[in-house]
Amino acid sequence: MSKEFIPAARPIVGEAERAAVDAVLRSGMLAQGAEVAAFEQEFSRELLDGRATVAVNSGTAGLHLGLLAAGVGPGDEVIVPSFTFAATANAVALTGATPVFADIELTHFCLDPAHVAELVTERTKGIMPVHLYGHPANMPAFTELAEQRGLALYEDAAQAHGASLHGRRVGTFGTFAMFSLYPTKNMTSGEGGMVSTSDAGVERTLRLLRNQGMERQYENELVGFNARMTNLHAAIGRVQLTKLAEWTRTRQANARFFDEHLAGVGVPAVAEGAEHVYHQYTITVPEDRDGFVTALKEEHQVGCGVYYPIPNHRLPSFARDVDLPNTEAAARSVVSLPVHPSLDDEDRDRIVTAVNTVAKAGA
Ligand SMILES: *Cc1c(COP(=O)(O)O)cnc(C)c1O
Repeated sequence: MSKEFIPAARPIVGEAERAAVDAVLRSGMLAQGAEVAAFEQEFSRELLDGRATVAVNSGTAGLHLGLLAAGVGPGDEVIVPSFTFAATANAVALTGATPVFADIELTHFCLDPAHVAELVTERTKGIMPVHLYGHPANMPAFTELAEQRGLALYEDAAQAHGASLHGRRVGTFGTFAMFSLYPTKNMTSGEGGMVSTSDAGVERTLRLLRNQGMERQYENELVGFNARMTNLHAAIGRVQLTKLAEWTRTRQANARFFDEHLAGVGVPAVAEGAEHVYHQYTITVPEDRDGFVTALKEEHQVGCGVYYPIPNHRLPSFARDVDLPNTEAAARSVVSLPVHPSLDDEDRDRIVTAVNTVAKAGA
């Protein structure tokens, strides 16, 4: 019996997004303009308690410009996890600063404050935790460490739209925070990123850096980029933002179903006071992870992903000789199951049956 393949991720784009793009096309105002400004305000109001928000053309550009605006540059060190997408460390390296890789804790796969504390030197400028898989990093511990050691905090919230810790939204802790709007993320604009900050100077520098250093046309104040979001992308993002809360509730309901029904694998833990938005639902399998993934896909037509099989410190682009045992353990054992809001009841049952069958066979 051949069943339909359940994809690991599936962006939901409907008639409202198409109509919004069409309206921008008809307006003739395609580049950054009123749609982008409205999207910034709505994103800030919905997700960031009104914090200033600057739209850019990718999450990676958001991290890069955020770090530059926060004054990170050559000679500085920024402590980052190795267990994340390469964009986190790439953005640090592109400023001329050095990414220093710290280990994660194995309960939520986020940066480990105790290991970060050991890596602080006189060159350390800041710490950039990642709210990995949609689970908030341990921000109270990082805030305390940053205050004690005189460091800045930056947040990679690429995967964590709407997540919170003790009622406080991610993206409101750091000097700046970045949210990605790539199609597989919890909401999308096609490509895009949002950078939030409570520092008016950082906000102004961000706005300059994304537009060639100009506030007034042809009066360039600094050397900048073209990292502008288009009105077309913003129009998609504005529609998606109106659906995010419902999609997040569906992701959380899917996760609860998996928590209750999966057996023989490690299910994701949620820290006390944390709201997890399940960008990924990531399980751990103790043995033969790659065989597990192959069996899910080929025997059960259940898509899944491994985020991330090669930690950053071992990528050819960084190649650092450091010992990060929890990072290595996670890279060997994680599997992310489909948890996206377009799963139906039958999909969820099939995912549970597939995982439990493969886990049992492997035991
Ligand atoms: C997606 C992602 C990024 C980069 O965002 P883009 O919009 O793809 O440039 C950075 N960090 C993490 C953790 C991500 O998941």
